[in-house]
Amino acid sequence: MVINEMTQEECGAFLASASLGRLGCALDSEPYVVPIYFVYEPDYIYALSTFGQKIEWMRANPKVCLEVDQIANQSQWMSVIATGSYQELPEPQFSAERDHARRLLGKRYRWWQSALAERQLRLGGDSIIPLFFRIHVDSMTGLRAIAESAESGNAPQK
Ligand SMILES: Cc1cc2nc3c(=O)[nH]c(=O)nc-3n(C[C@H](O)[C@H](O)[C@H](O)COP(=O)(O)OP(=O)(O)OC[C@H]3O[C@@H](n4cnc5c(N)ncnc54)[C@H](O)[C@@H]3O)c2cc1C
Repeated sequence: MVINEMTQEECGAFLASASLGRLGCALDSEPYVVPIYFVYEPDYIYALSTFGQKIEWMRANPKVCLEVDQIANQSQWMSVIATGSYQELPEPQFSAERDHARRLLGKRYRWWQSALAERQLRLGGDSIIPLFFRIHVDSMTGLRAIAESAESGNAPQK
């Protein structure tokens, strides 16, 4: 297996093709990671959330990261980490950005289901207000593992 660094273009293309990532944030030296759906377009990652720990923490400390991976097997995988800053998109100040986020996220299947279903299960309330946010991406790194047979062009014999 060979592990190569991905270029910025490859990292961006991978994020654009993905929809599920692990959002990492921290507060008072404590880490917190949760899965979220997202949409990437250059420089920004858009997501929808309900209010809870991650939003409280990101408001207090906007430095966040998102890890996204695609794992075919132990020797064929890709992993990208985007690091940046949390920006909430409340109305009316960010109406245009919020509409943009809604349009982007709406293109991907039932993007709202996980967030709202989880919160309604927990709180049993109907007054769950969706909250849009984006991450301004400051840097991206990516690693890609390739099986050596694929790397050298020698496909394994069947
Ligand atoms: C495939 C998938 C996609 C999801 N997509 C989204 C999305 O797009 N937007 C979104 O807001 N949420 C999404 N969720 C749910 C998300 O992972 C969180 O569970 C949820 O948003 C609540 O996070 P919170 O910080 O507000 O937690 P709170 O409700 O404030 O919960 C506090 C405590 O609950 C525990 N907890 C919370 N979430 C999890 C978890 N996922 N696993 C284990 N323990 C947990 C932690 O111990 C935490 O301290 C998704 C979950 C899955 C599995």
